[in-house]
Order: sequence, then structure tokens, then C-alpha cells
Amino acid sequence: MTVYSGPVFDMAAKQFNVIADHLGIPGDERERLLMPKRAITVSCPIHRDDGTIAVFEGYRVQHLLTMGPTKGGTRFAPSVDIGEVAALAIWMSWKCALVGLPYGGAKGGVTVDLSKLSPRELESLSRRYMQEMIPFVGPHTDVMAPDMGTNEQVMAWFMDTYSMYQGQTVTEIVTGKPVFSGGTLGRREATGRGVAHLARRVMDVLSIDPGKATAVIQGFGNVGSYAALGLHQMGLKVIAVSDHTGALHDPRGLDIPALMTHATKHGSIAGFSTELQFDPKQILTFACDVLVPAAIERVIDGPTAEKLKCRVLAEAANGPTTPEADLVLERRRDEIFLIPDILCNSGGVVVSYFEWVQDLQQLFWEEEEVMRREYQILDRAFHTMLARVKADNISHRTAAMAVGVEKVRAAKNTRGLFP
Ligand code: GLU
Repeated sequence: MTVYSGPVFDMAAKQFNVIADHLGIPGDERERLLMPKRAITVSCPIHRDDGTIAVFEGYRVQHLLTMGPTKGGTRFAPSVDIGEVAALAIWMSWKCALVGLPYGGAKGGVTVDLSKLSPRELESLSRRYMQEMIPFVGPHTDVMAPDMGTNEQVMAWFMDTYSMYQGQTVTEIVTGKPVFSGGTLGRREATGRGVAHLARRVMDVLSIDPGKATAVIQGFGNVGSYAALGLHQMGLKVIAVSDHTGALHDPRGLDIPALMTHATKHGSIAGFSTELQFDPKQILTFACDVLVPAAIERVIDGPTAEKLKCRVLAEAANGPTTPEADLVLERRRDEIFLIPDILCNSGGVVVSYFEWVQDLQQLFWEEEEVMRREYQILDRAFHTMLARVKADNISHRTAAMAVGVEKVRAAKNTRGLFP
């Protein structure tokens, strides 16, 4: 038992042990690699609109400080707890190492139901959370970014709060900011675009014609919507989409640009159509070529994995597949091509890295440059994973994680133990 114990952290630990077994990492080294270096818990009091005070619990977990500053998103959701945040921080570490970014993993969050906050209360909470974190973050210490429930506006408030305390504008303290406040072109689209790009690479490997293929997307936030758009633009029919309000199905293919316009205006897919509605519980087991879980952790368990009817599983969410489901996917590896989360959704943090570099240099790139470099990094990591799968005869997830864990292990061992 640790302070992090719970379903999500236990899952990250289980996954890590599979990799550590594969790499033959001795027991004493495992703890050093897995356990977070720092965990910060803060209480964030704000004034509600009615004049009362409400207090929200916030967290930041910095998994490892070996590789450079820590990096990762901030999640505002009711499910947030220290164990979930720690697991997400650990996954960020393997992700950054796999794609070759000079960061350790971090993650933050506030336990909050956003449907119960007014826009002013959300601003107060965002500012207070960042203010409480000031002693623990910095452009060369820990750099935040968006995640579930946070967006460019929240990042702008984070940046402004930090900057007001510094007495100067410090854009490089967070990534995922609006373009006119030190953000980069292509960050908003980066994660979803990366998912679509990698799915396309896999379709090439499997000789699937995008013009004849179908896709299903669970989750229509920033990641799910831009993944859907990318696939739609490649010619796939996106036949089903769901979010927290419901699900839509159209065998002729949904009009994704129109659905995105609707979701931006209304905050969800609700109200887009009454005819196309269906039970969101069925979304993952729909027959399709490309299935994109782009919502939360642990949605594909063992029994669901048995029922999947896709050819490509593109994990846009962090940790959507449980270790039990991984065993099923391993058995079904000739039927389903898995693009594991730490590779599949890494376009987001890759372009966050570009944003940080541009802010530090105050030299901004064209969007084409951002996309070209993003795809170059994703392609390299994709081929590294495939080569490892072949060399070691292991699953895609084991290969991707092994590459990441190995790099961190090498860095720790060459730096040695202080003092
Ligand atoms: N929250 C995103 C992730 O899970 C992005 C993190 C970042 O851009 O730093 O990868």
C-alpha cells in the first residue's frame, strides 16, 4: 500500500512490472523507477458567486526529475485523486522518453465538477491552483499543460497568475496557451492530428484503403474531435461518436466539421440530432476499421477486449486499456493492431515541447514547420516500436514502454545516486 494505491495507480504499477520483468530489472531498481519523486497536495479556497467560500483539493505529481524539467497536463474533473494523477504522471515519463523529449513526467489535477462552477468561479479556481503551485513549478522545473477539463483559457490564466508574481510575462511556464498569448500554431490540433497520422501509418501497413474505411470515436473533447476530423479528412467515414452526454451513429458517416462547430458552440454533442442517437455503452464494440478511445482510463477491460470489432485500436486517451484487456489483445494481435497510448497521443506533448522551445527563444514557427516536425518524431517512435516488437517478439505496448523505461533507467544509472 502507498498513498497512491487505487485502481489507476495499481494499473500503472502492473504495466510497469510487465516491462521490468521483460527487461530483467532487479527489484531495488524498480522502486526507484516507478515511485513518484514528489507529490504536492494543496487546498484551493475560492469565493463562490453567492459570497460563500468553497475549498477544492488540488494535486501535482512530479514523477522523475532525472531527464530535465517535468511536463504534463492539469485535469479538472470529479474523478481526480492523488493515485490517478500519479499514474498519469508515470505514463507521461514513459511517453516523453519514448519520443525523445528532455522531460520527466508530471500531472496535476483538481477534484471538481465543472458543471457546478460559473465562468468566474472557474477563473478563480484556476488562478488559485496555480498560485498554490508557484513554489513547486517553473519553466525549468515543471511545465503544465491542458488535460481533461482544462483548455487554452485556463492555461492563459495559469500563465498570467505566475507572471504577475514574477513581475514579468513568463510564457514558458505552461504550454497549450492561446496563440496570441505565447502559444504555438498547431498545439490545439496536435494530439488529435497525431492520432490520425499514426492510424494512417497503420492503415498503410495493413493495406486498408482510407476511402473505404470506417472509424468510431469515444470522446469528443479536444483530442477526440481533432482525431475524428483528421480521419474524416483522410476519407474515412466516422460512423459513430460519443461523449459524456450520449452517442451518435450514422452508417453514411457523420458530418464531423458540422459536429465540431456544434460541440464548440454548445459544449457537447447533445442536441446535434435526435435521429442518430444510440446507446453510448455500445460505442467501443461497434464494428469498424479504426477505433479511437479518446475519453478516460480503463474503459476497455477484459470482457470488452474480447468483443472489440476493430482492426486498429488507436489509444488517444491515457490508459484506456486495462492489463487484463492487454492479455486479450495479445492473443488477438493478428486481428487488432494496437497503437499504445504513450505513442498514440504523444503528438500533444511533442507540440507542447515545441511551444516551450519557441517561448524560450521568442522565435515562432509556421504551422507547417510544427506539423512536419511533429510527424517526423511520431514516425521515428512508431518505427522504433515496430523494430522492438520484431526483435523481442513482444506486444506493441510492451515494446513502446520498454523503449521509454530503458532510456530512463540508463539516465538514472549513468547519473548515479546522490550523494
Ligand atoms: N495532457 C496531455 C497528455 O496527457 C498533454 C501534456 C503536455 O502537453 O504537456 O499527454
